[in-house]
Amino acid sequence: MEKQILRHDKQCRICGSSSITTVLKLKDTPLEDQFVRQSQKNIPQPVYPLELAICEDCGYVHLPYIVSPEVSYTDYVYVSSVTVGLRNHFDVYAEEIVSAYAFPNNSLIVDLGSNDGSMLASFKRLGLRVVGVEPAKAIATQATASGLPTINDFFTNEVASQIVQDFGQANVITANYMYANIDDVLGFTKAVSKLLAANGIFVVQTGYHPEQMKIKMFDYIYHEHFSYFTVEVLKNIFSSNGLELIHAAKTSPKGGSVRIVGQLKNGPRPIDSSVDELIHEEHTNNMRSVMTYLSYANEINKAKKELIDLLQTLKASGKRIVGFGASHSTTTLIYNFELEAFMEYLVDDNKLKQGKYSPGYHLPVYSIEKLYEDKPDYLLILAWQHGGSIMQRHKAFLSLGGKFLIPLPNLKVINDD
Ligand SMILES: [Zn+2]
Repeated sequence: MEKQILRHDKQCRICGSSSITTVLKLKDTPLEDQFVRQSQKNIPQPVYPLELAICEDCGYVHLPYIVSPEVSYTDYVYVSSVTVGLRNHFDVYAEEIVSAYAFPNNSLIVDLGSNDGSMLASFKRLGLRVVGVEPAKAIATQATASGLPTINDFFTNEVASQIVQDFGQANVITANYMYANIDDVLGFTKAVSKLLAANGIFVVQTGYHPEQMKIKMFDYIYHEHFSYFTVEVLKNIFSSNGLELIHAAKTSPKGGSVRIVGQLKNGPRPIDSSVDELIHEEHTNNMRSVMTYLSYANEINKAKKELIDLLQTLKASGKRIVGFGASHSTTTLIYNFELEAFMEYLVDDNKLKQGKYSPGYHLPVYSIEKLYEDKPDYLLILAWQHGGSIMQRHKAFLSLGGKFLIPLPNLKVINDD
């Protein structure tokens, strides 16, 4: 494992203010997606501080402790086409954008953090020219080989210039679930404004922190996730980098997301009322108040206590418990709810995780078949955000007499009767 660099920011990365207050202090955690091989399982993994802080001047909610992103990306194995249903989702998304903003054939779309190019493929089918930017080498090479030109790099000013030179200005720039994972979000956004054509739009889909808080989804806090956005903060980031926010809408993925659209300052489109409406809602919900986060921390602690009480009772009566889910979020959940001693092992559908060991505690990860051979009494659904579809796919576990435990937002036990 590489040497990691830990940085502690004492100034706001958006506005430079020093009025930074920690609002949620979680347990020190290893890099949450660093599942290790058997040969590494006797080597202890380092842990790093994990906190959420707010800038009292601009309301930016963020991690003040940053582990070097190049390191976090080294073992990056997520490939979007692995996830069932995404292709259809991207087709719908591409059609919505092309028809809502009336881009003619041959317009250029650049996807930042393009992964294996699944989304670009949807735009290509609609007649657009496509370019991807993707830091993970193997994935970028594979995308280029499949006819979706992909630059293997992080998106920077230099990369923006290179694209302008080779392909021209972009009519559409997209960033799907990666904007919150950028350390230098100001520099990144500045580079977007350089690449954007005069009539172009910049579309960002990202987790929407106010909605995710409502369902106690604190386990979306992990070291690769630097920013926890509100529309107000997004609007400020855009306007300090040559862009203006013209549309904002809540969407459902990942426990609550937001889709925002920007253009160059004083661009051709009017600013939609949705922008101010969502900012108004954020103010009404006191998203900038430290008190809001203190009561959030209380709710999380209450949920933890309830779950631990139940798990202790089950253990005392000899019940066997197994966890479902091997991801960033489940590592945060296991560490902060102190679940490691209750579970014998984890299961997950992701083949890349099977045969590995969980970060830090080194719980083994098996394929889901193990569940049906081994027949434990309870399956604790750590990936509770996907609880509905997991239970749907594994109804057979209930018929065997097994029970599901859903830890959040409210503790639930689900059995066959
Ligand atoms: Zn600030």
